[in-house]
Amino acid sequence: MRWDCYVIGADAAGLSAAIQIKRLRPQASLKVINMGRIISYGACGIPFVISGEIAAPEKLIHFTPESFAKLRGIRVDTGLEAVSLRTKDHLVEVKDLETGKTTAEEYGQLLIATGALPYRLPFVDYHEEGVFHVHTIEGLTRILAFLEKTKPRTAAIIGAGNIGLELAEALKKRGIDVLILELLPEPAALWPARIRRAVAKKIEEKHIRFFPGTAVKKVSKNGRGFVLETDERSFEAEAVFTVVGTAPATAFCRGEADMTRNGALEVDRRGRTSDPDVFSAGDCATVYHRLLKRNVYYPLGSTANKMGRVAGINMAGGDVVFPGIVGTQILKFFELSLAKTGLSREEAEKEGIKTKSSVARRLDKSRYYPGAVPVEVELVSEEESGKIVGAVVVSGGNAVSFIDPAAVAVYAGLTIEDLGWFDSAYAPPYAPVWNALVSAALKAVSNED
Ligand SMILES: Cc1cc2nc3c(=O)[nH]c(=O)nc-3n(C[C@H](O)[C@H](O)[C@H](O)COP(=O)(O)OP(=O)(O)OC[C@H]3O[C@@H](n4cnc5c(N)ncnc54)[C@H](O)[C@@H]3O)c2cc1C
Repeated sequence: MRWDCYVIGADAAGLSAAIQIKRLRPQASLKVINMGRIISYGACGIPFVISGEIAAPEKLIHFTPESFAKLRGIRVDTGLEAVSLRTKDHLVEVKDLETGKTTAEEYGQLLIATGALPYRLPFVDYHEEGVFHVHTIEGLTRILAFLEKTKPRTAAIIGAGNIGLELAEALKKRGIDVLILELLPEPAALWPARIRRAVAKKIEEKHIRFFPGTAVKKVSKNGRGFVLETDERSFEAEAVFTVVGTAPATAFCRGEADMTRNGALEVDRRGRTSDPDVFSAGDCATVYHRLLKRNVYYPLGSTANKMGRVAGINMAGGDVVFPGIVGTQILKFFELSLAKTGLSREEAEKEGIKTKSSVARRLDKSRYYPGAVPVEVELVSEEESGKIVGAVVVSGGNAVSFIDPAAVAVYAGLTIEDLGWFDSAYAPPYAPVWNALVSAALKAVSNED
């Protein structure tokens, strides 16, 4: 049988697309396959299950294949892995992971929504009990079983990016002594300097042992725990987590569509790859950056859902052009809420954009209202035009109420003057009269320090 639409991957991007295809082209024959048995879940919640804030891994699951079929009318076949692709013949070769049998499936249009896989350090044996990466719900179950059974007193995390930091907090909350080993000189390396500094300070405050500039070269079992070795020294821990980034899960389609160096599928703003009948979305694909005016690899759940929706509508015969991301992100690290949108000054400089920045420090509620916490906003604007190109927020409360309006400003090309007179909400329990974002914009307008 030739499927009108074939979707590989049943999570954020794949299922967002499938829902649109079903909605707009209900008569089309649609097949969705997924390698894992569990579909549609919030991997983003994994650290919070480890910390105990969320009671169980199952809480992260939005749909099972059964509930998806019942509520959305779409069948998802799990335990099937796409192993090769022949775009010339419109064929995808699919392996049944239970029987090992491989079949060729014919498609009219194909969506590749296979996400990304965590990098595995070549010197680490991930089969060893007590060694983990943090990526899937199946992996989470393994982690929880280990933590509950062996009750480790110490854990080493290799990598101080977003997931490494969220994990450090989670393990600390379980009473585990945490050690972070990071190759680069600072934690949160992909974030702006203001955030990197705030994270480094918080790491110290929380008594997490942090070793920057540390290249682990060997991990070996040693009695109850592990020894992690660099050229100069060694560390000991009873559990090891590697969180050193991800790579697009596209090995099976190499050579069949244009890819970036890291293996992300190049797509246009309709989600189409260099093959007109093959679409891609989510962590396995690039995405258009509105400010940079080019595609970037920016793997996030927010983008995967949107790009999946765009690809699905276009596969169903619609015509949606994705306007692009502006690089909005937020991260919780203990009491801190850290967020950015657009370009930091460092990033703008690399792009040859001359910027100025203004910083405002305020409270997030009226000074006299109980629970008011500090918030710091840095606004980055283009020197000549005054257009806002980015913002950075470090908040003791919730940075969303500052970063989202800033993201709209960047998206819409507003200037510091526009934002300075922006009609922001005020009531003592929620916001002060002069909120930090508005203050930063007005400071920029009047060139105040
Ligand atoms: C611990 C953690 C925390 C995160 N926190 C955040 C956050 O706070 N905010 C945020 O925006 N993002 C966050 N993310 C990222 C977010 O989860 C991803 O961007 C999102 O899941 C990507 O969705 P996707 O559909 O592209 O891919 P995935 O969710 O990875 O889904 C891909 C699916 O394809 C299947 N698959 C893969 N290869 C094949 C194949 N060959 N054949 C068949 N099926 C295949 C997989 O089994 C999987 O089900 C986090 C991720 C992790 C791991």
